[in-house]
Amino acid sequence: MQEVHSWHAEALGKQAAASLVKNGFTAEYFDNREHLIKAVEALFVPGMSIGCGGSMTIRELGILDRARDRGCTILDHNAPGIDADTRMNILRQQLTSDLFISSTNALTLDGELVNVDGNGNRVAALSFGPKKVLVIAGINKIVSTLDDALARIELTASPKNNKRLNKPNPCTKSGYCMDCDAETRICRIYSILKRKPAASDFTVFIVGEVLGF
Ligand code: SF4
Repeated sequence: MQEVHSWHAEALGKQAAASLVKNGFTAEYFDNREHLIKAVEALFVPGMSIGCGGSMTIRELGILDRARDRGCTILDHNAPGIDADTRMNILRQQLTSDLFISSTNALTLDGELVNVDGNGNRVAALSFGPKKVLVIAGINKIVSTLDDALARIELTASPKNNKRLNKPNPCTKSGYCMDCDAETRICRIYSILKRKPAASDFTVFIVGEVLGF
């Protein structure tokens, strides 16, 4: 049975990677996280600054700890004990980091990256600013169409992120998006990258494993 899962992941992952390349991105498919991590670590240069959008995928892979171990400076807006002003400064610094690492809420087979954001720092950095952008996507992020991408965000990514962040929004009870009007709504900016942003050095790594939300 595992063979069937692996075949399917590879077929979808390679199709999405080929579409991303057609859309101007650098993209590669990896069959497991060990191969992916080796490729990510090859991008680290001691002393470089690294920003990161709040991402379960990056956390699950231990990417930031690996970067720190190699002498990179992590711009961590979730570091314990920092005050609101410091956090905001770090979020701004991330926009001009040497490397910005994020996952994506959805990736279509046509090579489009779809994300929703609350502050906008993540989608801003994915659009312009950092010297290099790296998106890491588990196979669970691949969908067929832009409509499916939005459906994935509303049914899975946003409710789970609300729950993770302990937000008092209706999706944390229903399990799916209620398109709320809450002050605490985290879904505010919807971004579709249909082609590589013109001024960006932008790489997407896809891995044939379920990662993040
Ligand atoms: S719009 Fe509101 S209800 Fe929908 S996922 Fe976002 S926070 Fe939850």
